Amino acid sequence: MGIWSRSQNTSMLESSLTLTSVSRIRATLISAVMLCGLGVAHANPSLVKVEYLPRQDLLCALLPGASIKEEWKVELLARQAEFETLWNAQGPRLMEAAETITGKRFPPEQIEAQLTLCNTPSESFAATGRVSINMRYALRSFTSTPVPMRYKVDTLFHELLHVFLFKNPIQNSRLLEENASEPERVRSHLHLLALQKAVLLKLNEPDALKDVIAIDSQLPGGYYKRAWAIVNATDDAYLGYVAEASR
Ligand SMILES: [Zn+2]
Repeated sequence: MGIWSRSQNTSMLESSLTLTSVSRIRATLISAVMLCGLGVAHANPSLVKVEYLPRQDLLCALLPGASIKEEWKVELLARQAEFETLWNAQGPRLMEAAETITGKRFPPEQIEAQLTLCNTPSESFAATGRVSINMRYALRSFTSTPVPMRYKVDTLFHELLHVFLFKNPIQNSRLLEENASEPERVRSHLHLLALQKAVLLKLNEPDALKDVIAIDSQLPGGYYKRAWAIVNATDDAYLGYVAEASR
């Protein structure tokens, strides 16, 4: 967001140099201030840096059965901009909504979002501010039934919510006690998925929410399917988790 604001302001300044009318210059400066203000309204300037570095995948590709085909690399490099455009449009508003709902903040440090073709699940390394997004299943060269790129944007948001909840841990949760017998991976996703649901509903994105629930529920192990079932047990079950995440 900060990078976006700076480049916008720079281009505004450059375009203002070509204007001769004082009123046009004044209007331009006012627009620049407004753009800057919009940037500040988002909570975390340039918080997330998306990158895909094929050489980072070299090691994982050496593991048995984990090779990465050249055509996958080619497609991901070709479609990285598609992902980034979607992220730039959606990511800041998703993060801002999470902060508005909970009254809590993402950590101010930049988070590296590494796209990967390794045969590993998307994951967050919250303590070091890095998240990894598995892009295999979004590729037409990998599967005949790829997930929508928008789902991968929501996956990045999911991983960022792990960082958010690491920095803002849930304290003394009655709901976690109630779900004490659930597997840890289910329990560690209840507040996260509830918050993700609250964000997507707040932003009037019911189709994105539907896709997230449907695709998450197909992931191996059934943990996400179970966690979504608990969060969606009743129309307002998720609100209890959101309330606990907002204390
Ligand atoms: Zn997760």
